[in-house]
Amino acid sequence: LDDSDPLVIIGTGLAGYHLAKEFRKLDQRTPLVLISGDDGTFYSKPLLSASLAHGKTPQQLATATAEAMATELNAEILVHTHVTDVDRQARVLTLVSDSGGIRAELRYARLVFATGAHCAPLPAIEGDGLSRLFRVNSLGDYHRFRTALTNRKRVLLIGAGLIGCEFANDLAQAGYQVEVVDVQPWPLANLLPEAAGRDIQQSLEQAGVRFHLGTGVSRLERMSSGIRAVLSSGDTIEADIALAALGLRPNTGLAEAAGIAVNRGIVTNRQLQTSDANVFALGDCAEVDGHSLYYVAPLTQSARALAQSLTGTAKPVQYGCLPVAVKTTLRPTVVCPPRHGSEGEWNVTADKDGVKAEYVDTSGNLLGFALTGSAIAERDALSRRCAPLMD
Ligand code: FAD
Repeated sequence: LDDSDPLVIIGTGLAGYHLAKEFRKLDQRTPLVLISGDDGTFYSKPLLSASLAHGKTPQQLATATAEAMATELNAEILVHTHVTDVDRQARVLTLVSDSGGIRAELRYARLVFATGAHCAPLPAIEGDGLSRLFRVNSLGDYHRFRTALTNRKRVLLIGAGLIGCEFANDLAQAGYQVEVVDVQPWPLANLLPEAAGRDIQQSLEQAGVRFHLGTGVSRLERMSSGIRAVLSSGDTIEADIALAALGLRPNTGLAEAAGIAVNRGIVTNRQLQTSDANVFALGDCAEVDGHSLYYVAPLTQSARALAQSLTGTAKPVQYGCLPVAVKTTLRPTVVCPPRHGSEGEWNVTADKDGVKAEYVDTSGNLLGFALTGSAIAERDALSRRCAPLMD
């Protein structure tokens, strides 16, 4: 191992940049390289589904350019560059730049995957309207979507999960007419019990959002201006453009091709170490000790722990209870999903001001919770009682 070989981080999303910042707090000398398939702008991804109503442009969301980040981090940042191969024996990456496809090689001392996640594949939708269907999982996507929204009024949203409901809230608040379609019976059905999902649905409906639940889009046709969606229920919806928010899939292909163990995400232990002791992963791409979590809180905790491990103090990450604020401002909501595969049931109390749902096991232990409306005031009290994700 050559001392001058850098620590290389693939990805400049929140995971890559948080790790770089935490690492530099502890080590100002080791060469550091970040590689990004995009332009390396630092931005807060959660704001993408909560910025239309405030009139925030993509430029305003871009907190720092890649150049500014390179200066701040005393790092080299290679933008518009894709890592296409990892030779773990030689510790060499193959890089291909967007401009002219120039290939280069880069040696690393240690390597971190912070490659994020991509939008889940679309279900089979027939018709020629897909060119007016958008997805938002990056600042570039948001720019394209906002540009296409210009002078438009009616938006078809496919998916009523966490991100879909946030976009419905944001679009409605910004004055758009929103129709939401989801095959599930109520909004956020993968995260919330029915009472809480219906409570959010009602608040969004009062703001003009229309829901079509328990049905999917089977056809999307292009019309002279806009689109027409045909639902499996037989209903049709006309809109100007469509946005799909159908969940995320970790970017694991590069790691898998390099022979690194992959399950739902890139498999790591609590020290964020993959099946190769010299290669690490965090953020949306990582499955940390069995936990695949596509949220900011786990990645900031991972970044802190990994920075310590990389600078010589072995530090396992320990996820506690991690409540997530759903940015449906029309009905403030907090959800703390129970650990994947845990056995329990929802105990729900509801009144006109909000819903409190506790997910408890047979011994009465609190494993997760969901709060809407004024019940969100109980967030801290429930967080203190709730079982940690990692023992
Ligand atoms: P990403 O941001 O996806 O970054 C991945 C990086 O890897 C990119 O720079 C990409 O270019 C690069 N990359 C990938 N492959 C390669 C390659 N082969 N070569 C070079 N570069 C590569 N979480 C919350 O906790 N609260 C919220 O309210 C919330 N709201 C959200 C709203 C929206 C609309 C979305 C999309 C997500 C939201 N999330 C929220 C989730 C949160 O934003 C993500 O968990 C987090 O941003 C993931 O960061 P990341 O760095 O792991 O991945």
